[in-house]
Amino acid sequence: MTTVEMGIPTVRSSVSLDGRPDVDQLVDRFGRVARDLRVSITEKCSLRCTYCMPEEGLPAIPAQNLLTADEIVRLVDIAVHRLGVREVRFTGGEPLMRVDLERMIAGCAERVPGIPLAMTTNAVGLEHRAAGLARAGLTRVNVSLDSVDREHFARLTRRDRLPSVMAGIRAAARAGLAPMKINAVLMPETLSGAADLLEWCLHEGVTLRFIEEMPLDADHEWARDNMVTADRLLAVLGERFTLTEHGREDPSAPAEEWLVDGGPGTVGIIASVTRSFCSDCDRTRLTAEGTVRSCLFSDQEVDLRSVLRSGAGDEDLAQLWRGAMWNKWAGHGINAAGFAPPQRSMGAIGG
Ligand code: SAM
Ligand code: SF4
Repeated sequence: MTTVEMGIPTVRSSVSLDGRPDVDQLVDRFGRVARDLRVSITEKCSLRCTYCMPEEGLPAIPAQNLLTADEIVRLVDIAVHRLGVREVRFTGGEPLMRVDLERMIAGCAERVPGIPLAMTTNAVGLEHRAAGLARAGLTRVNVSLDSVDREHFARLTRRDRLPSVMAGIRAAARAGLAPMKINAVLMPETLSGAADLLEWCLHEGVTLRFIEEMPLDADHEWARDNMVTADRLLAVLGERFTLTEHGREDPSAPAEEWLVDGGPGTVGIIASVTRSFCSDCDRTRLTAEGTVRSCLFSDQEVDLRSVLRSGAGDEDLAQLWRGAMWNKWAGHGINAAGFAPPQRSMGAIGG
């Protein structure tokens, strides 16, 4: 065991593969198969959402510890061709903070043609890059937007950037980055604006999904008694809209869908805390420093970066990755007595 800069226990190469079937997939002991790769590419961000980042931002990752664009392309190639990954999503921090994002996407598009390349973004500045990103090979974006009230937005993100976000959403739609989804984290201070946000999204023709706040804020202020639950949101939305239960897109999709006023518009709710979907989880995560993280809530990470830089071959890296996922735990345990939040916050893991 070694320790990386952020104080996360990192396993270098001794992950146990005992009992693992010899398949080219990221299977775990509970029979789940990870096909959805989230790649965090930076800890930097243009916003400071209170449920995610500290006011001063996250501690900077030294440049030499950040995966380069070429290293990311290589690891994505390994994930797809040796580990059965079927979708790649770039996240952060804010992925648009990396100036080499277009080059990274183009490299991935060339090496893994046909694999959807998506991005989760706050859309600040996307207005100027959406067309170029689409040309590079980006296929879809999910935009995080919690409020269409400029004051609420500025308070929640500690930055007055709502006009830039809205311009970014429209530019992404024009660039064909579709289907676009808007993600909104539920907070008590924005609950009263939830119906306005839904109305705006229906008007713009984008799908909205609300996400229950998880104990992944850097300030460690999350409190169960204070969080807005899916049930509370449904009651608030029900005052303006008629919602009809519509199930899930597919069984492993985290969002439960509701038809709004008979459809065709829908709204989704990702009840990560009150209706956990860990048993269907199909995600594997790569942090910006090049460690594999099998679960948002597990601090044990497997270091690929130093192995990659020591000259390891693709199969050695793939085997380390298989071991990291084989040892994934059953679930996040937020609702269990004695639950302790992980050391990394959402912005430092990649949501
Ligand atoms: N900066 C980009 C963005 O905001 O879309 C990508 C990174 S952000 C960490 C990814 C997602 O995590 C966002 O949708 C954000 O709302 C969500 N998120 C951050 N902190 C969260 C928390 N404590 N609970 C639930 N979701 C959270
Ligand atoms: Fe930045 Fe995204 Fe975290 Fe907001 S949720 S602070 S936009 S990384």
